[in-house]
Amino acid sequence: MLPLGLVVGVLTGSWISRRALGAVDQIITEVREISDGRSLHRRLAEPRVKDELGRLAETLNQMMMRLERSFVALRRFTADASHELKTPLTVLRAGVERAITTPHLPQETLVTLEETLQEIKHMSELVDALLTLARADEGLAPLHREPVDLRGLVDEARETGELLAEQAGVTMEIATPPEPLVVSVDATRIRELILNLLTNAVKYTPVGGSVRMQLGSANGTVTLSVADTGIGIAPGDLPHIFDRFWRADSARTRTGERPGAGLGLAICKWIAEAHGGRIEVVSRPGRGTTFTVTLPSDAPAGHS
Ligand code: ADP
Repeated sequence: MLPLGLVVGVLTGSWISRRALGAVDQIITEVREISDGRSLHRRLAEPRVKDELGRLAETLNQMMMRLERSFVALRRFTADASHELKTPLTVLRAGVERAITTPHLPQETLVTLEETLQEIKHMSELVDALLTLARADEGLAPLHREPVDLRGLVDEARETGELLAEQAGVTMEIATPPEPLVVSVDATRIRELILNLLTNAVKYTPVGGSVRMQLGSANGTVTLSVADTGIGIAPGDLPHIFDRFWRADSARTRTGERPGAGLGLAICKWIAEAHGGRIEVVSRPGRGTTFTVTLPSDAPAGHS
């Protein structure tokens, strides 16, 4: 009887502990899913019995509610602050633009006004970028999709790209397929994405280098790649380049030869993902960088 009792005891014990640990495991899985950053609105299922596990789930839920509230407040603050800055910046810009046209201005004043105008333009771009990201975070930046031949968008970017490349002493080559590539996208956003990638490619490529943009499609996806022969990105930096405000050391001076705020790629990533696609990068320091955007060619309409 004793060995039998022992076996029954061990089996019952392990069954009870497995049940208890199973519930803990369930909580761990759910918390992981919720804390991926996009699902903070979700809550753990709270068991009806208020034992230790029930109270643990309840406490975690309260913590997540507070976290969610502060995230929402933070996003709201960024969106409100950017929005509030837009009007004074527009007024400032108009004022400086008017002042600059005053006849017989001393050279020194003219230079100061031009520098001020340049700074105001950078600031307006920064505020626009911040507002875009804050609205996207709040889910208030819906895409206005319509069927567009992507070759048209690439051709529109060609002119700006070639101008930038010429100023920077870089050659630019743009290849599009001969047949139309019609996809349901938000044309304004995709134009922004293409221009961001082209501008970066030119900005981070020294004189004499080249930039190549290519549009193509295969197996239900559209790919747009922008390759440059520029300074490249260190392997340790690659995981950060899509982070907001992140800039490599070599690019950190905001007003230097490569001005920027470090928001362009964060916006590109949001645009690609909002279209159900993705953006990837391959780079070798000193050799060059290639960004590839992949979009589903039959993207579901109306999704943001
Ligand atoms: P920025 O305004 O600084 O260009 P982005 O978000 O567009 O901001 O890019 C973030 C950082 O990624 C840049 O500061 C730069 O260090 C790096 N980067 C982006 N594109 C390239 C590129 N084509 N070649 C090399 N580095 C790049």
